[in-house]
Amino acid sequence: MALAKSVPKTLLPGRASCDIPRMKKSTWDLVGNTPLVEIESLSKLTGGRIFAKCEFMNPGGSVKDRAAKFIIDEAEKSGALKPGGTIVEGSAGNTGIGLAMLAAARGYKTIVTIPDNQAQEKYAILEALGAEVRKVKPVPFANTDHFYHQAKRISEETPGAFWANQFENLANLKAHEEGTGAEIWEDTAGRIDVFTCAVGTGGTMGGVSRSLKSRAAAAGRDVRTILADPEGSGLFSYKKTGVIQSSGSSVTEGIGIMRITANFAAAKIDDAIRILDTEMIDMLFHLARYEGLFVGTSAALNVMAAYKLAMTEKGSGKTFVTILCDHGSRYQSKLLSETWRKEKGLEPVPLGTR
Ligand code: PMP
Repeated sequence: MALAKSVPKTLLPGRASCDIPRMKKSTWDLVGNTPLVEIESLSKLTGGRIFAKCEFMNPGGSVKDRAAKFIIDEAEKSGALKPGGTIVEGSAGNTGIGLAMLAAARGYKTIVTIPDNQAQEKYAILEALGAEVRKVKPVPFANTDHFYHQAKRISEETPGAFWANQFENLANLKAHEEGTGAEIWEDTAGRIDVFTCAVGTGGTMGGVSRSLKSRAAAAGRDVRTILADPEGSGLFSYKKTGVIQSSGSSVTEGIGIMRITANFAAAKIDDAIRILDTEMIDMLFHLARYEGLFVGTSAALNVMAAYKLAMTEKGSGKTFVTILCDHGSRYQSKLLSETWRKEKGLEPVPLGTR
């Protein structure tokens, strides 16, 4: 695109708070404070209360806007990121989008390394936000060409660059400890019983689990935290046996890892549940058709986990909470293609009929 690489300095917004109450100064102020919605059909089916946090309502469209905001904020404060600098990150897309969005509003450049098998919508959004997109082959983490290692290298070779490092940078977890988790506690009036979600970096699970556990302990009770893991990820077996092992693969994006990151290591997790892609796709279209919620694949997997957990204690009346990480439109070239679904063996059927 024949546009300038970054916003001219004269157009950058000031940092003072907006002088009109209730008005937001910039995209920066739109991150977080997302609503919790009841998935009523699932509450009825399970005899529990199933709630999901609408993270797709963040300005960059995903839960990762929160991590991006805290990472940039901390890097500015520590001096690691200087005015006019370049933010470099390896991402399955959403963190890159969050960073590029906030970087655009603050005059930074963004370079994103991203596997070349992600939904094409993500590359298009990154480019629209002015990020430099470097597609890389999807390879195991041990391979030095993995997007993570490439991002690190690029940051070392680029003058004025800052590597966001969402996997190891605990500003990621902090965003969810101070934000997501605290909001869930407030919005359920402390009546949450079970929290479940999948792990990409572990930031969401790390921060939310810590936040909920400490608040519950202060109130003299407990909140159970359950990791939801797709096939191809080693965390389910790690939680069950202590060994990182996986089998199969998953079409979900942004979740499932084969190593213990700093953000994951800090999480307080009680147990784990495995969710298959077939279960995920059934829930994805259930949510679209019966709730009007067209969400992404990790979000659907999360809700399936909450539903299955509620089903194991059917009629409990307990409150289950999970995360709607992003919106289905981010994956429409895949999800809404019958050819793609058939090729992957993922034609949805009504819940419980498979
Ligand atoms: N869902 C999607 C769509 C994501 O992009 C990510 C982040 N990679 C996650 C879930 C996982 O979130 P976290 O990194 O906080 O574990």
